[in-house]
Amino acid sequence: MPGICDSHVHMNEPGRTEWEGIETASRAAAAGGITTLVDMPLNSIPPTTTVSALKLKRESAKKTAYTDYGFWGGVIPGNEKDLLPLVENGVLGFKAFLIESGVSEFPMASPEVVDKSLSLLKEKRVPLLVHAEMDLSHQTDAKSSRKYQDYLVSRPDSWEVEAIRLMISLAKKRNSPVHIVHLSSAQALKDLRQAKKDGVPVTVETCPHYLTLTSESIADGETHFKCAPPIRDKTNQSQLWEGLKEGVIDFIVSDHSPCTPQLKKFETGDFNEAWGGIAGLQFSLPVVWTELSQRGMGIPELSHWMSEAPLQFLNLENKSGKIELGQDADLVVWDPSASFTLQASQIQHRHKVTPYLGKTFKGIVEKTFVRGICVFDKGAVKGPLGQEVRRKEWKII
Ligand code: ZN
Repeated sequence: MPGICDSHVHMNEPGRTEWEGIETASRAAAAGGITTLVDMPLNSIPPTTTVSALKLKRESAKKTAYTDYGFWGGVIPGNEKDLLPLVENGVLGFKAFLIESGVSEFPMASPEVVDKSLSLLKEKRVPLLVHAEMDLSHQTDAKSSRKYQDYLVSRPDSWEVEAIRLMISLAKKRNSPVHIVHLSSAQALKDLRQAKKDGVPVTVETCPHYLTLTSESIADGETHFKCAPPIRDKTNQSQLWEGLKEGVIDFIVSDHSPCTPQLKKFETGDFNEAWGGIAGLQFSLPVVWTELSQRGMGIPELSHWMSEAPLQFLNLENKSGKIELGQDADLVVWDPSASFTLQASQIQHRHKVTPYLGKTFKGIVEKTFVRGICVFDKGAVKGPLGQEVRRKEWKII
């Protein structure tokens, strides 16, 4: 099958390599059949909001990446002068937050800042990726709780729906591409469906955890399930699958966002205190395959949502997400009928914390090839040999 493309990964290098790092994230990717990764601009220090920060990441990745890779830049208040230089230096697009990001060095952007960035980026046709939640409650004190339901209620569907409505209106106004990251609430599908019908340049991703885990099954204190927006209920999950089948949701990526085990606050199990982020990129393929095949779909759908569609979105040189002449031989060889129970010893991420631990999945990755070179062979990772990807229009200046 074409190699998996994961365009939403927090590698956290430089600055927070105790959380993850390019080497460990890309090793895990190679072991999971992923051949292309795109790194998010935040949780690293400095964040990728300037060309000098981009260069720091690039230097590390050149030496330590096991798969091919690219970088998203960041839109924060005050860095508008950096946006076009970042595009000229090879970022694939930008990410902005409409709500607190969780780290102080990547502040949220107001609707005005987002609007301005869309007007600047319009000519370049690079997407603005948006964390689409807006805090409509304006509560300053979130309460401590071990109950997942309390956390779920604290980030309601309406926060996503309102943020997505805003982004649709700005994408329409500027005719500049907007991408909604990690859609969790199916209540936003109606607006997104209409926007796509109307020709608004908006694309949408969702993640393995929203498609395979449900709020009903998260026990009190299980903070390794905490992410934002939150994992919602079973009915919502079925509607997300329908959104994918219908094409309102374009593709599936991990939003791998690890931290140190200490930051998950397992000793108190307090959802308010714990870091929000799911770690699991190595297992996206089997996790999604297990659920997708139970729902009556097959390898064509899997390959479209995890390889072809994210690569179409990225618009990269020599990476179509299809096996065809003229393209890089980015491939995964896997056994769709074999199953395994996930043990900590199999995990190549820096830390062993993942909500998938101990669960049984179908689909075992045997080999991964990046540009024709075998980087993973039945348990052994080889490399590093990753190269930076390029957008088709990108030219060195
Ligand atoms: Zn993320």
